[in-house]
Amino acid sequence: MKIIDAIAQSAPFYSLEFFPPKERTAWADFFAVAERLRAVNPLYCSVTYGAGGGVAAGTLEIASRLTGLGFTVMNHLTCVGATPESIRAYLEKLGLAGVENILALRGDPPAGENIRWEDCPFTYAADLVSFVRREFPSFGIAVAAYLTPHPESPSFAEDRLYTAMKIKAGSDFAVTQLFFDSREYFEYVEQLRRLGVTKPILPGVLPVQSMDLLRRVLRLSGCNIPAKLYLALEEADRKGGAEAVREAGAVHAVEQIRQLIAGGAPGVHLYTLNRAELCLRIAEQVGPL
Ligand SMILES: Cc1cc2nc3c(=O)[nH]c(=O)nc-3n(C[C@H](O)[C@H](O)[C@H](O)COP(=O)(O)OP(=O)(O)OC[C@H]3O[C@@H](n4cnc5c(N)ncnc54)[C@H](O)[C@@H]3O)c2cc1C
Repeated sequence: MKIIDAIAQSAPFYSLEFFPPKERTAWADFFAVAERLRAVNPLYCSVTYGAGGGVAAGTLEIASRLTGLGFTVMNHLTCVGATPESIRAYLEKLGLAGVENILALRGDPPAGENIRWEDCPFTYAADLVSFVRREFPSFGIAVAAYLTPHPESPSFAEDRLYTAMKIKAGSDFAVTQLFFDSREYFEYVEQLRRLGVTKPILPGVLPVQSMDLLRRVLRLSGCNIPAKLYLALEEADRKGGAEAVREAGAVHAVEQIRQLIAGGAPGVHLYTLNRAELCLRIAEQVGPL
């Protein structure tokens, strides 16, 4: 089923993002986490593809196994360095595995590699969207959106414009990078609506698991965090350690999710970092969406 069709029929929902564990020995624990998170009744689960230097190889197999377990799955797919043939072959494998949705991304060249974009069949995510829409029309397609503009965007305005263009190239909906201030999301949605985007924009929320993980995610994503929240998390860490950070993170996420849903967001995409505990705690405190 295309996720967009499920969104159209659904009350506000959770979706979950996972990354494929590097080691196969960690897969049993990974699937146990996914099973525990069934409790939040996710509309779909997404599986990253080589994000942050991670492995792309496991994505298809993880996506396929999650599909076999009854989850609706969105497989992330990057097109940097890809050819039409390689994308075609990958999508055919996805189709055989029963995975019917992708998050179409440009991705980043490997660190230290100078890529000549003019030689690449795919320069932007929008090229992948158009390609998949044309050659694999049965696939559901989502794209990434950035409240803190994408690091390569010369201006906020161009960032919004290019995002609008890739959505209009044939995407069903967009998923945002993580953020912590709901007002930024509502303003962002307004900006895209003014550019003629009518598709759902699904907000991404990161439950803060620890200061180390938070710093790593901020470093990788380049996204903003309100100074007040960051200082509160640091203080929690100083006074009560890791559990106090999780508690402060949960309090913030619960408030953020309530604001997002009350303000009309279609649902909430949780960046699980492959951990169940905090997501479950937050969903329980939020109550029915
Ligand atoms: C929700 C989410 C999930 C992600 N999952 C993964 C993952 O699984 N694996 C992974 O490797 N990475 C992932 N990423 C990161 C992503 O691959 C990087 O941020 C990458 O640098 C950009 O990918 P994109 O699809 O957003 O690119 P694009 O939409 O192509 O944008 C890239 C840059 O080009 C600019 N641009 C776009 N169109 C034009 C144009 N026509 N003219 C000039 N400039 C233009 C944009 O403004 C932007 O600065 C994810 C990001 C998000 C938000």
